[in-house]
Amino acid sequence: MVTEQLTEIYRLLFERFGHQHWWPGETQFEIITGAILTQNTNWANVEKAIANLKSADCLTPEKLYHLELSKLAELIRPAGYYNIKARRLKNFIDWLFENHRGELTNLESIDTDTLRVELLAIKGIGPETADSILLYALDRPIFVVDAYTARVAARHQLIESGADYEQLRELFQSNLPPDTGHFNEYHALLVKVGKEFCRKRARCSGCPLEILPHTLKHECF
Ligand code: SF4
Repeated sequence: MVTEQLTEIYRLLFERFGHQHWWPGETQFEIITGAILTQNTNWANVEKAIANLKSADCLTPEKLYHLELSKLAELIRPAGYYNIKARRLKNFIDWLFENHRGELTNLESIDTDTLRVELLAIKGIGPETADSILLYALDRPIFVVDAYTARVAARHQLIESGADYEQLRELFQSNLPPDTGHFNEYHALLVKVGKEFCRKRARCSGCPLEILPHTLKHECF
C-alpha cells in the first residue's frame, strides 16, 4: 500500500516536472563540496563559492588538504558561515587522508553502511549531508531526506508528523527498490514540489499531488 502511494507520488511529480538533473557538479569532489557548502544557504551562493575554488585551481582533495584554513574560508565566503564550512570541508578532507590515503576511489570497496557510519562520525557532517554525498557523489542507494520530504510525507499521511530523519529514510528505503537513479530523481522532485507548492503554508491548488488524499492539519514544519 505504501509502496503504491510512493510510486504514484513519484509518477505524478515526474509527469509534471520531468528530470531534475541532480546533482550539478563536474566531479565527485565538486558534488561533495557542494553538499557540505549548501547547508543553510541557497544554491546560487554555493555556485559562487565553487566558482572561486575553481578559479583558484583548488577543487581537489589534494589541493584543499594543503590549503590554509583561512584561505579556504575566504574562497568560500559567498556560501555563508564560511569559517564553519571551511572547517567542515577540512574535516572531510582530513578524514579522507587519514583513513583512505586521500583518494575517493578508495571508498569504492567499502560497503554503504560502514561508509555512512564513517561519514556521520566526521564533525559537521549530519545525516542529510552524509546521505547526499553517498547518493549523489558515491552512487550509493541511500534516500536523502529533508524538510520537504517530511512535509509531503506527513501531509499525505505516509508518516506521523514529527517523524525523525531515520524514520523518514526508512519509509522510502523499505518501500522502494534500492535504485540509485530513482532515489536521485525522487529526492530532487520532492525538493521541487516543496519549493513550488508544499511550503510551510501549502499551495495545494495546482500542485501535481493535489488529486491524492492529503491533510493540512499539521502546519508547523
Ligand atoms: S501542496 Fe498540498 S497537494 Fe501539494 S504536496 Fe503539499 S499537501 Fe500535497
